[in-house]
Amino acid sequence: MAAKRRFRTVKGMHDLVGKAPVFAFVEDKAREVFSLYGYDEVRTPIVEETELFVRGVGEGSEIVGKQMYTFDDKKGRSLTLRPEGTAPVARAYLQNNWASGPQPVKVFYMGPYFRYERPQEGRYRQFHQIGAELINDSGPYSDVELLVMLLRFLEELGFEDLEVGLNSVGDPECRQRYSQRLREYLAPYRDELGADSRRRLETNPLRILDTKAPRERELLEGAPRLRDELGGPARDHFQVVCDELGRFDIDFEIDDRLVRGLDYYTRTVFEITSTALGAQNAILGGGRYDGLIAELGGPSVPGIGFAIGQDRLVDLVLKIPGASRRLNAEDHRRRPVCVIPIGGSYRRHGMELAQELRAAGIPAICEFDSLRPLKARLKQAVRHDCRWVVLFGEDEEKEGKIVLKDFYDRTQETIQRDRFVEEVAKRRASADSS
Ligand code: AMP
Repeated sequence: MAAKRRFRTVKGMHDLVGKAPVFAFVEDKAREVFSLYGYDEVRTPIVEETELFVRGVGEGSEIVGKQMYTFDDKKGRSLTLRPEGTAPVARAYLQNNWASGPQPVKVFYMGPYFRYERPQEGRYRQFHQIGAELINDSGPYSDVELLVMLLRFLEELGFEDLEVGLNSVGDPECRQRYSQRLREYLAPYRDELGADSRRRLETNPLRILDTKAPRERELLEGAPRLRDELGGPARDHFQVVCDELGRFDIDFEIDDRLVRGLDYYTRTVFEITSTALGAQNAILGGGRYDGLIAELGGPSVPGIGFAIGQDRLVDLVLKIPGASRRLNAEDHRRRPVCVIPIGGSYRRHGMELAQELRAAGIPAICEFDSLRPLKARLKQAVRHDCRWVVLFGEDEEKEGKIVLKDFYDRTQETIQRDRFVEEVAKRRASADSS
């Protein structure tokens, strides 16, 4: 008989095993910091109507053009696994009538996103984002506050080597004006452009600005600057953002080539990179999207937001000196005490002892397999990374005691059964502070 086929994850998708606690750690930190700024968590469905992204993200975008996981449901409706989080939040704003609640609306979210991209280091087909959106305030102080919050979050995770790139892509009129100028500038070099850029020359010339092709970058050096085409209101807005960020001691660089890949951006756009990550080094991107909600059939409501690539963030957190120490300390708190009942008839007692520890907030596991030799069961406790083991059998029951083993100090002591939780708690607390 042929061997049954073993299954593997789909290409570009991964099991998060060892890294899961680090994912949880950054999520907890995001909840803590974003709440300080008055943001509430939302969870939108993973699947949306395809049209939401086509209209919201834009037909000319890479995401809609090439990267969506789109399928028909049994009734022939075209659905898509969400490739990004802003369009769903904008949809939720309209659908749930958030306009009737307190304004501006501030929400954050986290979860899996899907893009059919060529998998490589730091680029996956199922990835994770942590994002936030501030909807219905068009003023520059919202941009500043959002960036201040974002940097506080990253600082609290331990980042120091961050580069903040900032630009303004202006209002639609400035962009149109600029697109025309860029087209005129590039027209004589048309034959030197790659196929993608030649296509973009017609559809969305702005996107040519973030090309990676060396020859195209060279050509762009003499190109007109988008910043010089900004109209008065967009220019004033950008000026306030830059001045105020300076006042909050945020170092940033104005990056004329920063336009971002999604069609919905207006005015402020930004990206934060870490020098530690190599080629795929953007850990987050964001910007203002004053036209998006109207594009989705709603009124003209402005917004600004960002999305952090959580997978890259986690990889970086693991590289920060000191981070592993902090994570280990947290991990240590989570490590269970192992209860080993000795003899089949003591399994129930083992369960009770473990329950008492858990009731006191101490993680505990119980090694029920009493048929195995004690040595093998102790080995399991080591493999579970337990520091303490509680042993309980016939002798201990008679004497009203338990035996507490400490793998680190290689000690073993006998403790009163009715005081053992207290004693274990005391030892855990002093281990934490040492
Ligand atoms: P975007 O929604 O394209 O602005 O992306 C925001 C952030 O999400 C990026 O800076 C990346 O850190 C992350 N990201 C985007 N696409 C992927 C992917 N395919 N795999 C991993 N991270 C991604």
